[in-house]
Amino acid sequence: MQINVKAPAKINLTLDVLRKRKDGYHDVEMIMTTIDLADRIQLNSLEEDRIIVDVTKGYVPCNDKNLAYQAAKLLKDRLGIKKGVSIFIDKQIPVSAGLAGGSTDAAAVLRGLNQMWNLHLSVEELAEIGLQIGSDVPFCVHGGTAIATGRGENLEFLPAPPPCWVILVKPPRGVSTKDVYERIKIDKLNHPDTPGMIRAIQDQNFPAICNSLQNVMEDVTFQLYPDVHMIKNRMIQFGADGTVMSGSGPTVFSLTQNESRAYRLYNGLKGFMEQVYVVRLLGSEN
Ligand code: ATP
Repeated sequence: MQINVKAPAKINLTLDVLRKRKDGYHDVEMIMTTIDLADRIQLNSLEEDRIIVDVTKGYVPCNDKNLAYQAAKLLKDRLGIKKGVSIFIDKQIPVSAGLAGGSTDAAAVLRGLNQMWNLHLSVEELAEIGLQIGSDVPFCVHGGTAIATGRGENLEFLPAPPPCWVILVKPPRGVSTKDVYERIKIDKLNHPDTPGMIRAIQDQNFPAICNSLQNVMEDVTFQLYPDVHMIKNRMIQFGADGTVMSGSGPTVFSLTQNESRAYRLYNGLKGFMEQVYVVRLLGSEN
């Protein structure tokens, strides 16, 4: 049997870090939404009791370090499943980019295997299993637009933002989320107006959404990699309606509702950056 699953990337419309917890994790408050930049995952059932992973991009691990592998293994162990699966990932989402590429692959494997193996697990049960892999996996299991608190696993869903274009630039380097967290000075942060962003989404007020984009991780990532700051400034100069970094970076994205402005930005940025994307914001559940 073969199943094909789409694994969309997420962007952060806001990202706030509230405190460091005793268990080493940070309490966050962030608004995430899905975009139409997605990995394509093909699952093929195997008679043999094993998990095989193959990825189109060389620098993603094809072993038990791959989060998609970990998702299949967790499901097998939890439910005592003796069947095998071959997982093929057509990687379109840039890696170590702040777009939850690995987490969304894991979430898509959970959803796909639930169907392939007729497990009848609810989305909530899949999200709870996914949390063992990473803090962003529960959101990726659901998709859509949500406020995430705790480590990122407590989700409150919001309506999809109004339709718009998302222009993304991924600088050549990757950023380690752990490095950024280690350097954050929580008592000195300029916190985003999260209630303002929630209101803007509920009111479908696109200019207010653009004005409320904010990410407390920007300062640390910009200090580590000044070129990321330079890219953000360029995107603002090219006339984006709103621009911010996603996750711990280094991807920076702009929003606009105007198609010709989206492609003007894309073409301007393509002149000096290799990885530039223009996609639609999705924002509704998978
Ligand atoms: P986040 O936004 O959740 O912090 P990210 O987008 O910054 O994630 P990923 O693309 O998920 O980062 O990659 C982070 C690390 O995970 C990389 O070192 C990569 O090798 C590893 N990894 C494991 N499985 C995958 C996968 N399926 N796709 C991409 N990276 C993976």
